[in-house]
Amino acid sequence: MKPWKCSKKKWCKTLADRLQIKNAHGKGLAPFVLMSMTTGKDTVYGVVYKTDAKDDGVLLNVCPWCAEKICFVPKKKVIK
Ligand SMILES: [Zn+2]
Repeated sequence: MKPWKCSKKKWCKTLADRLQIKNAHGKGLAPFVLMSMTTGKDTVYGVVYKTDAKDDGVLLNVCPWCAEKICFVPKKKVIK
């Protein structure tokens, strides 16, 4: 079975295993989620890496493991 790669719907297993879902505000990799103003639903826009809890984090452009593009922030959207 071929391992799947990261997509907008699903992360590859290597990344998924390392994402901090429960402790998203600590050090490490965490999903970058924003609530949509139009639908009110949470949408995952990518993955951020934080060096510690105070760090705002940096968005990863590509997955370090499967090399797929994992930044789904719309170009029009301005973050900070
Ligand atoms: Zn991946």
